[in-house]
Amino acid sequence: MEQSLDFRMCLPLLTSRDASILAYGKALSYWHVHHQFCGFCGHKSLAYEGRHIRRCQNENCHKESYPRTDPAVIMLVEYQPENGPAKCLLAQHHKISSQVVSTLAGFVDPGESLEEAVIREVQEEAGIEVSDVTYMASQP
Ligand SMILES: [Zn+2]
Repeated sequence: MEQSLDFRMCLPLLTSRDASILAYGKALSYWHVHHQFCGFCGHKSLAYEGRHIRRCQNENCHKESYPRTDPAVIMLVEYQPENGPAKCLLAQHHKISSQVVSTLAGFVDPGESLEEAVIREVQEEAGIEVSDVTYMASQP
């Protein structure tokens, strides 16, 4: 029986470039499996341009579609009390029964900046108002 691992389990073992290529391949494969029909007219679409584009096969449509991206934010919420060391907020996912904790994260809503997404996600997930959101870096 073939077993597969969540590709995120492999990420610590990969270079940044290899992780990027793996993420791209996974996203493209997922997109092709789940977007086989035109979003405009419902006809079958096929892959073109080295599988980077799908094109509707309806002669009256021929709309092209591209892989979507889902921007997300991962944030470390820090608190510096007047006395004592700085603290950070970690959370345990409510659907996962393990001792693993992580920083908060979430998807960016349409029309929302990355900083606004951080403020909203921390409020939604932890009920905490944050300010002074600082962008640090991006990753694929
Ligand atoms: Zn179409």
